[in-house]
Amino acid sequence: MSFNIAIDGPAGAGKSTIAKKIAAKKGYIYVDTGAMYRAMALYLIREQATPEQIDEKCEHADITIGYENGEQVVYLNGENVNSYIRTEEVGRMASISSPNPNVRRKLTQLQQKLAADKDVVMDGRDIGTCVLPGAQVKVYLTADSHERALRRYRELTAKGETCDLDTIEKDIVERDRQDMTREISPLKQAEDAVLLDSSHMTIDEVVDAVITLCDREG
Ligand code: C5P
Repeated sequence: MSFNIAIDGPAGAGKSTIAKKIAAKKGYIYVDTGAMYRAMALYLIREQATPEQIDEKCEHADITIGYENGEQVVYLNGENVNSYIRTEEVGRMASISSPNPNVRRKLTQLQQKLAADKDVVMDGRDIGTCVLPGAQVKVYLTADSHERALRRYRELTAKGETCDLDTIEKDIVERDRQDMTREISPLKQAEDAVLLDSSHMTIDEVVDAVITLCDREG
């Protein structure tokens, strides 16, 4: 049986940084489910889909993932879209389209297939609660919204993008609200997940805490 680690939490909590490090340490595959929702959002933006059209349009988006030089690559109808999905516009659209039941069904199936026969560290919003309810290790990773906004701000400015800290924080708070209040698979801590607040923890401290949880599970 494969070993599955589920990491859920709000935007900017550090899930992908932590998950990548754990995957490298354990020799597991890292699966970034947010990237899949972003690829779907990119498709819907390109199609100029209205909210009413999401149901029908999402059927034409074939999303798959692969790995190149150890990095996850998301393909949208065969095109590598990694360089297009990290914008704030795509993130906002992902939050709007991800409550759609057809979108979720499609992507959840893909995620469950990946984890069925491979050891994975999977991060997202509903991994511990819906996608991999039987995961051996479940973590709910959070941090306060100002700290999360600061991290995103530093990430963007390091890439040379101009941005405004207040706007980023407002966006993050709004995205959390949408993700936590949607009817299907809302963002919430699974009952058996361990809560880690990374506001005052270093990356390595969080990684060590998760590795300790894995060691306990054998
Ligand atoms: O994690 P990331 O910011 O890339 O995710 C983008 C959006 O995709 C989230 O705000 C959320 O609406 C959606 N998402 C989701 N379920 C997941 C992963 C992401 O609904 N498992």
